[in-house]
Amino acid sequence: YDDRDGHIWMDGEMVPWREANVHILTHAMHYASSVFEGERAYNGKIFKSREHSERLKRSAQMIDFEIPYSIDELEAAKALVLKDSGLQDAYVRAIAWRGAGEDMGVASAKNPVRVAIAAWEWGAYYGDAKMKGAKLDISKWKRPSPETIPSHAKAAGLYMICTMSKHAAEAKGCSDAMMYDHRGYVAEATGANIFFVKDGEVHTPDPDCFLNGITRQTVIGMLRDRGITVHERHIMPEELSGFEQCWLTGTAAEVTPVGQIGDYTFEVGALTREIAEAYEKLVRS
Ligand code: PMP
Repeated sequence: YDDRDGHIWMDGEMVPWREANVHILTHAMHYASSVFEGERAYNGKIFKSREHSERLKRSAQMIDFEIPYSIDELEAAKALVLKDSGLQDAYVRAIAWRGAGEDMGVASAKNPVRVAIAAWEWGAYYGDAKMKGAKLDISKWKRPSPETIPSHAKAAGLYMICTMSKHAAEAKGCSDAMMYDHRGYVAEATGANIFFVKDGEVHTPDPDCFLNGITRQTVIGMLRDRGITVHERHIMPEELSGFEQCWLTGTAAEVTPVGQIGDYTFEVGALTREIAEAYEKLVRS
């Protein structure tokens, strides 16, 4: 991703893509003092752009730093990046981190907070699993307690176990991994939330120790608008065998059907298809 044409917005300026670098003694690289957003633009407009900017600011506050730009400034910067990319449909990545500076220890209050925004083309996150149903591994890593780490922040430090889980999953021929939480309840995938269907009702884990995704909230609204009951609750592993359908939600994943989690299988059923199609329509409306 480093060798391409175009520009990346960095700290208020458009920098040529290949020159958008940071120093090796960047605090974030050593201590994970970084938060980010994943957003998608459809037909030249970022879906729920403001919500993503607000979450970026909140994530930074949760890991103890303040982004030196207002929501309006971030919105203007993202719009500029999208326009400069020439793309109608794009993935937009905003990132904020503690840079290099006076401190090289764990504390870094004196180091500058840096912000960058890039946009590029990114098709279906799970490739052809998008319609066939993704196959998920079950990760050995557990989502941590909010008393262990600020687990509601979209912070880089929370993704170390996601990368490890996803690598292990891919080595077994799976597209992704489902993770349990620290108590053993079903939590989410490595970059997406999870939903189940049983007897016409929908069940999704209570997001009490992981990201309450913007797509998750959108899809819950869509389901309730259709008069479908949605239970946000703790889900035990032994319940997996009783669910009929399953899907993932996320900005990158959109609504992706799941066909298998470990030994449990699910059908790509009518409700899964309806919600996937309705989401596609909504983001483009
Ligand atoms: N959980 C994790 C770990 C994620 O990385 C994402 C993607 N941001 C989500 C859930 C879904 O969040 P959203 O719908 O806001 O993209």
